[in-house]
Order: sequence, then C-alpha cells, then structure tokens
Amino acid sequence: NEHWIVVLKERMDPQLLQWEEAALAKYSMDYHHFSPVLASQLQGKVAECIASPRTEEELDDLLSIAAELGVPLTIRGNGTGNYGQCVPVTGGIVLNLAKYNKVLEMGEGTMRIQAGARLGKMESTARKAGYELRTMPSTFQSATIGGFLCGGFGGIGSISWGTIWDGLVRSLKIKTLEVHPRTIELQGDEVLPYLHTYGTIGILSEVEINLAPRVEWMQWAVTFDRFEQAFRFGQSVAEDTSLVKRLISIHEWPVPSYFLPLDLPAGRAVVLLEVDTTNESQLERILSEYEGHMAMKVSAEQYHKGVGVSDFTWNHTTLWARKADPGLTYLQLNFDPSCALEQISSMKKEYPEVMNHIEFARQNENLLISGLPLVPFTTEENLNQLMERYEENRVRVNNPHTWDLKEGGRSYAHDRLWEIKHRNDPKGILNQEKLKRSAVSGV
Ligand code: FAD
Repeated sequence: NEHWIVVLKERMDPQLLQWEEAALAKYSMDYHHFSPVLASQLQGKVAECIASPRTEEELDDLLSIAAELGVPLTIRGNGTGNYGQCVPVTGGIVLNLAKYNKVLEMGEGTMRIQAGARLGKMESTARKAGYELRTMPSTFQSATIGGFLCGGFGGIGSISWGTIWDGLVRSLKIKTLEVHPRTIELQGDEVLPYLHTYGTIGILSEVEINLAPRVEWMQWAVTFDRFEQAFRFGQSVAEDTSLVKRLISIHEWPVPSYFLPLDLPAGRAVVLLEVDTTNESQLERILSEYEGHMAMKVSAEQYHKGVGVSDFTWNHTTLWARKADPGLTYLQLNFDPSCALEQISSMKKEYPEVMNHIEFARQNENLLISGLPLVPFTTEENLNQLMERYEENRVRVNNPHTWDLKEGGRSYAHDRLWEIKHRNDPKGILNQEKLKRSAVSGV
C-alpha cells in the first residue's frame, strides 16, 4: 500500500498532489447525502490522495503510475453528482479534473473543451459568440462537462434539445488507464457507450459539443389554484411546437414554500418557465386559458444575473426543500405521457405525503415527463416499497438511492460496457464498485 504513495511522491510534481485530511474529505464527497440510504452506506469512504493535473502530460503521467501499480482511481469533475458516483469506495486516488478546464476552440455552432471545463463558463462563452448550450443541469454554474456527460442526464434546455444522448456530443477524446495511456478519438454514435457510465470505462479528456443558437430568454413563475391546472398548462406549453422554450418545471404546494428567495403566494401550485421573449403574448393567452396568475418575471436583460427561476428546478428543488427540512428525500420517475396525470393522481391518493415536482423534457421525438417528487424519509424499506408501487402503476423508476450503475434504471448493454472496460482499464481500477459484474452473463 505504501509503495504507490512513495512512487507518486517521487515522480509527480508535489503541487499537483494533496494528502491532508481536510482535502481528502472534501474531494471524496458529492451530493449523495440527498439520499439517507447512500449517506449511511458511503460514510467514511475517502481517498488517500487527491491529484489535480493541469496539462495532458501531467494527466498521462498520473494514469501511467496508477496503471503500473494498480492503484484505484476515481474521476471527479466538481462533485455535484447525487449518487456517490465520484466517491472513492475503495480508496486510492481521486483524479480531480477541475483544473483541466480550458475552452480549446469555438467553431460555427460547436465548442471543444477540456473535460474539467465548467458548464457556466461554457454557457457564457457560447452566448458571447451568439450561441448557447443545448442542455445543462441546474448545477451548470459549478458542474463540469465531463461530470455532466458521465454522471448527469439533462436539465435546462432538455425540453427542446433532449438529453445528453440526443446529439449533444460531436466527439470525445478518451484516455485509457494503461502504463502507456492511449488516447481514443470517437465521433457521432461511437460516443454513446461512454455517456452516463460514471467514469467506469474510460477518462474523458476532451469533449466537442454541438451548440444551439442564442435565444433571449425571459423567466416566469406562474401560479394556479390546483396542481392539475398547473400540470395541464405545463403539458400544453411542452407540446406546443410554436413556442420556443428552455424550461417547464411544475411544483405542487407546499414545494414552492421552500423557495424562500422567490416569496411565492401560499397554497398555490407553481410553474417555473424559460420562454423566448418573442413568445410573450402567446404565453399570456395560454396562461389565461388555464386560469394562471403571474407571480414573478425575470427579464431577458437579467437572465443569469442574480437569482433566477432555474435555481429552483430539477434537483435544485430537492436542495431547497432539504434546506428547510433535512428529513426529506426524493425519487426519479418517468411517467407515461398518455396518462401521466392519472398516474400522479392515483399515487397521490395512496401516498398523500409525497409532494409532486415534475420536469418536462424530450428524448428523441418523445415527450419525457420526469418526476422528482419529495418524500419524507422513514425507512429504506418504505422507500423501496414506494418505488415498487410506482413501478406497479407503470411509472419508470430510476433509483437515486444506489451507486450501482445498473440499478440506476437506465438501459445499458452491460456486457458491452465490460468489453470496453477490459480494453481501457485492464486492471479494473477505474471507479471501482460502480459497474457491477453481471450475474446473468457472468462478464
Ligand atoms: P461529478 O459529480 O464530479 O462526477 C459525476 C460522475 O462523472 C462521476 O462518476 C465521475 O467519476 C464521472 N466523471 C467526471 N468527470 C469525468 C471525466 N472527465 N471522464 C469520465 N468520468 C468523469 N443532473 C442533471 O443531469 N440535471 C440536473 O438538472 C441536475 N441538477 C442537480 C441539482 C443539484 C442541486 C445537484 C446537487 C445535482 C444535480 N444534478 C443534475 C446532478 C449533477 O449536478 C450533474 O450530474 C452534474 O452534471 C455533475 O457534474 P460534476 O462535474 O459535479 O460531476
């Protein structure tokens, strides 16, 4: 165990390495404490060293040493993941890519960056050039592109541009974990197996993405007497192809009571929106059709300056709720668009304590109705039972209370991931325990 530490200290610039307890604790953490189940299972899991390369040469040197000596290595963007994806379960080195963050090239509707670049910086760079990100998580100010592609799924913009799987990525450079690390260049659909695989099968070093044309967004918070009205309004905005939109986020009362800075009216369901300013009068007409009331407007001039409505959407909703009540946790669901309201209402009758939070997105041509309901936590058993009841009601559950990639609910060619892993990480030291071996095929 001691040997790799001695070698690392001998061969690497000491400025790139951190060994102090405070740094080890900080860089071994993410936001898995949103789940009381994960918080207890991952307690005390820390790295022995944090390495923060700034150049490709430094990155290659580190990978080479880790591969030679078989040291577990866990990649970290900025640690905003929710499932303990970047927690080093078996110790070893945390590869912190936050300093590997250059914007390398702005093209016509494209951007090439190092994988540790923050999405907030990418968005402002793109907007200055007349473009913007197609989709980004609500954590865009702090999350990295590598972390988003390997740990996230979608967010702001997904209602028009889909998720990370929908043409966002043009090309990737992947580093392998070998004594002589190779750089693999992938284009188009070749990138897909690497997305949302928690950094278990290769290290993204460079990313090239497609951008969207810049739009002048206004943000609205509108309120309704009842959740059903808010939902119907949201769905009609989502389905109206003539409206240019970036965000539609629906919250049953008392969820809006947790959004303290917005000071929203008591007792009312809320829809948070980002819509093109040129669609303002059309949106006003739809709002009055559904008997909604305007509660707050953020003008296009104020977009991303100070507090905006997007700071309360996607998993930021859970963040605000847990600030007020740390006993709350959440689920991740996909409702059936043909009967979503019926599914929501029937579960509400059975579990009145569950507070509904819906986000609209697209995957390919299909509308995605994602639920991130807030749930008062009692026991793991009750939480599992609740997820089972959703599944029995034909609601898809992506379990956010596990770090096991396969249990997270997305569909993968699991054997194919192991094939890639064997080639790129022959010693199996990359983010150990997150990609479990398949019991069925034995690979
Ligand atoms: P990290 O947490 O550091 O890493 C995530 C995973 O990616 C880890 O498994 C890590 O090993 C791997 N990884 C990181 N960099 C690389 C790389 N270069 N190569 C290979 N693997 C790598 N997610 C969404 O999708 N949409 C949302 O709207 C959203 N909202 C959120 C709101 C809050 C308040 C919080 C706490 C989380 C939210 N998330 C959301 C989850 C998380 O923010 C996103 O997944 C985010 O993009 C992660 O970025 P990160 O840089 O912090 O990644």
